[in-house]
Amino acid sequence: MDGISTTELVLDPQAVSDFKGRVDPDWCPGCGDFGVLNALRRACLDLGLQPHEILTVSGIGCSSNFPGYFNSYGMHTLHGRSLAVATGAKMANHKLTVLVTGGDGDGFGIGGNHFTHTARRNVDLTYIVMDNQIYGLTTGQVSPTSNKDMKTKSTPFGSIEAPYNPITAAIMNGAGFVARGFSGDIKQLTMLMTQAIRHEGFALVNVFSPCITFNHDNNFEFFKPRVKKLEDESHDTGDWKAACEKALVWGDDIYTGLFYRNQEAQSLGSQEPVLDNGGALSQRRLGFSTEQADAIIANMM
Ligand code: SF4
Repeated sequence: MDGISTTELVLDPQAVSDFKGRVDPDWCPGCGDFGVLNALRRACLDLGLQPHEILTVSGIGCSSNFPGYFNSYGMHTLHGRSLAVATGAKMANHKLTVLVTGGDGDGFGIGGNHFTHTARRNVDLTYIVMDNQIYGLTTGQVSPTSNKDMKTKSTPFGSIEAPYNPITAAIMNGAGFVARGFSGDIKQLTMLMTQAIRHEGFALVNVFSPCITFNHDNNFEFFKPRVKKLEDESHDTGDWKAACEKALVWGDDIYTGLFYRNQEAQSLGSQEPVLDNGGALSQRRLGFSTEQADAIIANMM
């Protein structure tokens, strides 16, 4: 955040544009990630959040450039490590709304282990995955969510691997809020993001966000006639088995919406006694002198 003062960040959002970052997206024209960016700005506006109340953390990939395009505190971290960094930030300052953004390769491939354990620990984060079912930044290789038989640069004869299902994985790992959106439906996506941010605990919003440059199988034309909203079905969001069954449907119908919500599960932060009193850790006195702090840091270097 070099060069940006706190004063500049304290805005009174009256418009979606107040969440516009200082850098314009360099995504390919038509990339699905534009819809995700638009929806998240609207969700934050609807929630009455101010930019200085939000931290956006990402890993590496086209979608992980997100924090530069969004007006909030931001961290562009290492490949697959965004959830680990975000967990640390949330524990240090649990007053922050911490949003984590990235892609399917970053989150479910390189960062798969962090995804499992952040869900299991129910850290109060909102994880928005722009799932384009391919590695876009590296010009089109098979990713964990690519369909079987999909031909890419790395699988010229078709992928022989079964795709990873982030929805069932999140549910089975203990996430309390698990949803799927589509970047071609901004209204539903905004609603899902708003609910996810309000949820206390780990919330996944996995978004079909087509890579129009390298994934010619799962583009907007593929999804538009297939996506069906769970809101239009008699789906019980408290029934994890029904949620998993719906999440596995893939073909003429593909479901979007809120699959599962567990409002009983306690978040990690709510159970951590050290966070109970005295406000955010980041604003408390350390309890030792500057000289002692310097010695500790020097010892670790
Ligand atoms: Fe989007 Fe794909 Fe272009 Fe990356 S390569 S910006 S994912 S369309």
